[in-house]
Amino acid sequence: MGHVLAIDQGTTSTRAIAFDEAGRPGASAALPLNQIFPAPGWVEHDPNEIWRAVCEVCRSVVGEVGAENIAALGITNQRETTVVWDRATGDPLHNAIVWQDRRTAALCEELEREGWGAHVTETTGLLIDPYFSATKLAWLLSNVSGLHEKAERNEVCFGTIDSFLLYKLTGGALHMTDATNAARTMLFDIRNGRWDPKLLDRLGIPAGVLPEVRDNRGEFGAALKGAFGAALPIRGVAGDQQAASKGQACVRPSMIKATYGTGCFVVANTGDGDIDSENRMLSTVLWQLDGARTYALEGSIFMAGATIQWLRDNLGLIGEAAESEDIAKEANPDSGVYLVPAFQGLGAPVWDAGARGAIVGLSRASNKADIVAAGLESVAFQTRDLLGAMRDDMAKARIGEIEVLRVDGGMTANGWAMQRLADILGEAVEVAPIAETTALGAAYFAGQAADFYGDDAELAREWTPSRRYEPQMSESDREARYAGWLEAVDRVRSGKT
Ligand code: ADP
Repeated sequence: MGHVLAIDQGTTSTRAIAFDEAGRPGASAALPLNQIFPAPGWVEHDPNEIWRAVCEVCRSVVGEVGAENIAALGITNQRETTVVWDRATGDPLHNAIVWQDRRTAALCEELEREGWGAHVTETTGLLIDPYFSATKLAWLLSNVSGLHEKAERNEVCFGTIDSFLLYKLTGGALHMTDATNAARTMLFDIRNGRWDPKLLDRLGIPAGVLPEVRDNRGEFGAALKGAFGAALPIRGVAGDQQAASKGQACVRPSMIKATYGTGCFVVANTGDGDIDSENRMLSTVLWQLDGARTYALEGSIFMAGATIQWLRDNLGLIGEAAESEDIAKEANPDSGVYLVPAFQGLGAPVWDAGARGAIVGLSRASNKADIVAAGLESVAFQTRDLLGAMRDDMAKARIGEIEVLRVDGGMTANGWAMQRLADILGEAVEVAPIAETTALGAAYFAGQAADFYGDDAELAREWTPSRRYEPQMSESDREARYAGWLEAVDRVRSGKT
């Protein structure tokens, strides 16, 4: 019983990783996932492809470590992505509509106009947006021929990817989800822990299609022997960002993690109280254990690693992302150049959808290194903006001070960017001990349920960063640079929220 197997079903790939008693990753396998773009702004996945990939990567890992050595199976997944399938056969009734899909923008505007905004925020902790599952499910029910009638006959299951996988893994025995995935549907009442009848009614969603909502760890049946050659107990399920928080051992209120991938997702543990944000942050369920929910405040930065991709692909300033580190070291530390990556508008705390990007402060002496450094630095400035807004919300709710930022994701490999992040924040930055924190979080949930891992206090004690960056910049330098950033942001604002 030397391992816990984690399935990490992400937007672009499906992976399985076996973790040992110390939370170290061992055998693993991954498969890329096809992105289907049926129309501009639409993004779909084939649920059958996802299911086949899960089987294949799990079989590979189980084959390597031996089914008898696996204590439990945990699942983590891309959130919000919406699947409908036939309750009797498990066959998908449409492609999955992926979280990035914007086809329900008009329905969301309609909900806004009808005044549903306040109810959505009070009940679900979210802001009305096509991102979440609710309007995607409503779209499927209205646009897939016969689906609504079939749903009325209770022959349809809806679920996020976790739910679909639980159903498939258990041979149709379970139609369940966990509270973190439920919290991202925009149908779940996060305070009372139940589906919201008013939203279901408005969106024409028959309650029978919804999965039962469970704790993040516990009994989720067993993955059938047919799938991986041996029956494996499923003991943990969590959405990806919440799983990453668990993998980063953010187990106490005020602990916070940021995942720097294409975008950046920041999640703060706010304890047993959900926060009514004044800064358009999202309130969500961090996890639910023994029926008790711990809440989180969540914010995101649209352009993190994507800014580096842009420097690479659109400007050709670097050949690959990793080169940005050495080039940034060549930059003039006082170049005065700022890159505001408002390519899709500005998020928290400015919220200006009409803003567009800019490079400001150029002089005759400015060069490529200054622009690359400004690109990396923009990630630090945006993080400071976001944390400022979160801090504000957390202070009002009397959650303790944020002491350190725990980070993971592709960009954390960049030492220059991480040092600059600590400098601009004026706070320590700790890099996760392993790259796969999301999968580790799923393994922790499952492994705790199987008594394979210790409790949260033990996980927190044992958690050690792979690197810690202390701020080295003087206070005056930090504040002067940040003031320059705010000024640069001010120049690109359009005033359109
Ligand atoms: P995702 O899960 O969103 O695909 P990853 O965690 O794999 O993201 O991180 C990839 C992102 O990180 C890319 O946008 C890439 O530009 C950026 N990135 C990767 N390595 C570096 C690096 N050394 N320096 C700066 N950015 C990097």
